[in-house]
This record gives sequence, C-alpha cells and structure tokens, in this order.
Amino acid sequence: MKTPKICKTRAELKAAIAEANPESLGFVPTMGALHEGHGSLFSVAREENELVVISIFVNELQFNDAGDYSRYPRQLDADVQLAAQAGVDIIFAPAPVEVYQAGLPLIRLSSGRMGELYEGASRPGHFDGMLAVVAKLLHLADPRQGQYRAYFGQKDAQQVVLIRRMVADLDYPVQLRSVPIVRSEKGLALSSRNALLSAEEKEAALVLHRAISLIADRAARNEPLNVEDAVGMFQMEPLVELDYFTVVDPNTLEELAFNCQDTPFTGQGLILVAATVGKVRLIDNQPIGD
Ligand code: AMP
Repeated sequence: MKTPKICKTRAELKAAIAEANPESLGFVPTMGALHEGHGSLFSVAREENELVVISIFVNELQFNDAGDYSRYPRQLDADVQLAAQAGVDIIFAPAPVEVYQAGLPLIRLSSGRMGELYEGASRPGHFDGMLAVVAKLLHLADPRQGQYRAYFGQKDAQQVVLIRRMVADLDYPVQLRSVPIVRSEKGLALSSRNALLSAEEKEAALVLHRAISLIADRAARNEPLNVEDAVGMFQMEPLVELDYFTVVDPNTLEELAFNCQDTPFTGQGLILVAATVGKVRLIDNQPIGD
C-alpha cells in the first residue's frame, strides 16, 4: 500500500500534479473525517483515472453555526490511512489561509433559489459558502491537460444539483460524476457527523431510511405516495426532530405537485429528508421513478 503524498500548499499541489503529468485526473473534495462513503468516491475515481487527488478542508464559509464548525471532527492521521487503502495518490490538506489567500472572498457566487430551498432554508448561506470553496478547489486541482473529472456523493443531493449548475453556468472544464450513497448495514447513510451520535440516537436515526423506503417502494409500484405516512413515522421517534420530508423534481428541486395528492406516482422524483437527532443534523435522499 502506497502512502499518499500530502500537499499543504497550493504550490506543492501544483508541482505534484505537474510531476505526475497524468492523462486523467480524478478529484474528490472532502471535509475529512473520512469513512466508507468517501472511500467509495475514491474507489470510483481510482478506477477511472490515472491520478487520484483528494482534498481535506473544513470550509468555515459553509457553516452558519460556529459550534457546528468547531465540533466538526478532524482526524488527519486516520484520514491518510483510509485514503491510502483506497489508492489515493495526493491529499491536498491546506490551512484556511492557503485556500483564502486573498482573505475571505468579496466577490461571491450566489446559489440562487435552488440554494435557498431545503438545506439552504435551514442553513442560510451554506450553499453559497460551499460553492465558494468548490469553485476554488476545482481550479486548484485542475491538471490543465488530459481528462479532468470530479466526484461528488449522491448523499448530498442538493449539493450535486448546485455544483452541476455551477459547472455548466461558469463553463468549468471538468466532468462531474455522482456516486451512490453508502449506508451502514442497517441503512443509515454514512456521514462524518454520525460519530457525534450516541448508540441510542443512531438507532433512532434509522427512521430516515425507513421512511424513505416506504415512499420509494410505493413509487416503484406506481402507487400514490401519501407522503404524510412517512412524516407520521417521525412522530413515533421522540429523539428525532423532522425538518422536512418531501419529493421534488430532481433537476429544479421544486416540490412535485402530486406530493400532497392521492394520485399514482409517475415520472421522476427525488425524495429528500432532513432531521435533527440529538445535536446532529442528518440528511438522506433517494431518487425514484424512471
Ligand atoms: P464531506 O466530507 O461530508 O463534505 O463529503 C465529501 C464528499 O463525500 C461529498 O461529495 C459527499 O456527498 C460524499 N459523501 C459523504 N458521505 C457519503 C456517503 N455515505 N455515500 C456517498 N458519498 C458520500
């Protein structure tokens, strides 16, 4: 097993990519506290590219809650191990001043209406902050020649939709790939934040997946979705506070009309859910339909 090269500065990263001079580069941005969910992104990137570069950077700009930012788990040594096992070549692990060299950005990207819905409604500014860093990182890891691909998890469905729009709207020369959600055996979507849950909270958090499965199974049978049944499941879990459970258009993120009606499901949709368990906000989703 090869130890990945760790680059702390953008100059080191640039030199390492130039030295490798790859025909194809797969880039995976992360905030660290790596788990198998990240691992699956690394593995897909490994299969498809000559050089695999990941970044580990906890981006303060996308946290609207200072406590959440300071509590966010940081564990570089363990992360290097996991990345090595997945065959990552280069880890870019910069300090905030290295990323925001000119200071915090004065010229900002706006994620627009799609960034104000769902996660954006509960975390104002989150998606603008996320786009600010992804826009920079996509430049910093750009090999400038050969194939350039970037990998994102379907786990953060709204994030994927917004990054797709940013790449299209701003003509980034990168091909985007989204990778399916990796779950625990019991169905909990893996997340770095799960480490902050007690055993009891982890058990209670399984309701997210149960509720999604109920609605996804109905969609698969072209039955009415009756989303309120899924919402009702959360009322039986005192440790879980539901924020939203909804079915949206996967491209525009607008709520689908049949969501509240008793009509059979047809077409395409995306089930989105967010809930707080203890101090931890969890999200999950599943595409439905053809
Ligand atoms: P994060 O470190 O949470 O910013 O995540 C970095 C990348 O890993 C994002 O593209 C996430 O969507 C992806 N990711 C996180 N958890 C999972 C998971 N359970 N399954 C698939 N991808 C994931």
